[in-house]
Amino acid sequence: MNMKERVLVADIPNHIGETITIAGWVSVRRDHGKLVFLDIRDRSGSVQAIVLPSSGEAYEAVKDIRNENVVRIGGLVKERPGGAEKAGSVLGGVEIEVLSIGKLSGEEAALPFDLSSPVLDLNIDTLLDHRTLALRHPKQRAIFKIYATVLAAYGDHMREAGFLEIKTPKLVASATEGGANVFTVDYFGRKAYLAQSPQFYKQAGISVFERVFEVGPVFRAEPHFTTRHVNEYIGLDAELAFIESFTEVMDELEAAMNHIFSTVEQKCQAELALHETAVPTLVPFPRLRLSEALIILKEKYGKEVEGSDIDAEGERMIGEYAKETFGSDFIFLTHYPTDLRPFYTMPNADDPSVTESFDLLYRGLEIASGGQRIHDFHQLVESIRKRGMNADDFASYLDVFRYGCPPHGGWGLGSERIIQKLLGLGTIKEALLYPRDVKRLSP
Ligand code: ATP
Ligand code: MG
Repeated sequence: MNMKERVLVADIPNHIGETITIAGWVSVRRDHGKLVFLDIRDRSGSVQAIVLPSSGEAYEAVKDIRNENVVRIGGLVKERPGGAEKAGSVLGGVEIEVLSIGKLSGEEAALPFDLSSPVLDLNIDTLLDHRTLALRHPKQRAIFKIYATVLAAYGDHMREAGFLEIKTPKLVASATEGGANVFTVDYFGRKAYLAQSPQFYKQAGISVFERVFEVGPVFRAEPHFTTRHVNEYIGLDAELAFIESFTEVMDELEAAMNHIFSTVEQKCQAELALHETAVPTLVPFPRLRLSEALIILKEKYGKEVEGSDIDAEGERMIGEYAKETFGSDFIFLTHYPTDLRPFYTMPNADDPSVTESFDLLYRGLEIASGGQRIHDFHQLVESIRKRGMNADDFASYLDVFRYGCPPHGGWGLGSERIIQKLLGLGTIKEALLYPRDVKRLSP
């Protein structure tokens, strides 16, 4: 049998009455009296195959075929009147009468859990311990189909909007944002770090190309035990030059989010349905000063916030407020206090205690942070000093500004949190193929 002649499941209805070759995984094997039914899935869909006792050799061969074994089948395509389309998209109108079947791979071993049930009811540790197998489940596969669509839509939109895609190093000599949350690695006997942000390279990027974006790994060494943190994630970053105000950065991010969601809506109907969800109705994202949000929290929700920052519970409440008040799943919080933002953040001209910055919340969870950056060399050096750091440690970064850098701003957007909130996943870890957390480094 020649694999080049293989017909994809989705294409089977074009071959009624013909003998064809298909190949894929056995999703379910069902024995009814003497008949054996197999649901065969490939990357395009799923179809029912029947093995009749009269098929002789095939009937003999099917005896040691189990769920999830990989097989190739030669069979006759038959119309299946009234065959309903099943959830998980088994082709309803056709079936395959098996003439020959061969196992390509797989033992007769029993599976550690039932992959054929509509919902994989596993605790998160079991799900991740058996990740390579669990990913075969339709709902798991759907997550990563949607994820791939989000990545593609982001890239398409950014390119369309004039941003150049860049890739920047993840092995770096110093910690971008400072602080303790960096992983150290041994670099030929020297200390190096895993990048916790592409920030400096993005700024160097706009000083050359005006508009840049990057899709790349971000490493955070924080020992988190939350449902929204992992230690390695994929950041959707962007930076744009010649802005007058950080509101233009929010405009660009909002446009990107709109494109991502409308693309997912167009291309991922079946996958969204498996997760019993839909893309949110998109209205203009409301924008609220953080200081006003804190007042709303106090007056409307009786929540006192310590200091001037908002915590995760406060973000959830403001998410509810945005939904009730503006019918929006998104809200921008703006003007974060200067001491809560990195040194490169532009202070507000009238009130330098706050910055020209924002966070974007989606269903009450921060998915992005951004703002305008300082582009004046002296102001930047001063900001570094004020934070008790040494400007000499930032020499090559500061060169960007010494030789001239346009006014600019940008954002860092977490790709997995978008998926987590869109699909209502219990933890962000389900939105990564192989998540890394404090305890997990494999698979
Ligand atoms: P948080 O306050 O939730 O810990 P952060 O403010 O430290 O996040 P930023 O440095 O602003 O994070 O990073 C930009 C975006 O990257 C965040 O808005 C979020 O979507 C995503 N992100 C940050 N840290 C993580 C993480 N540990 N795991 C997954 N996504 C993350
Ligand atoms: Mg942030």
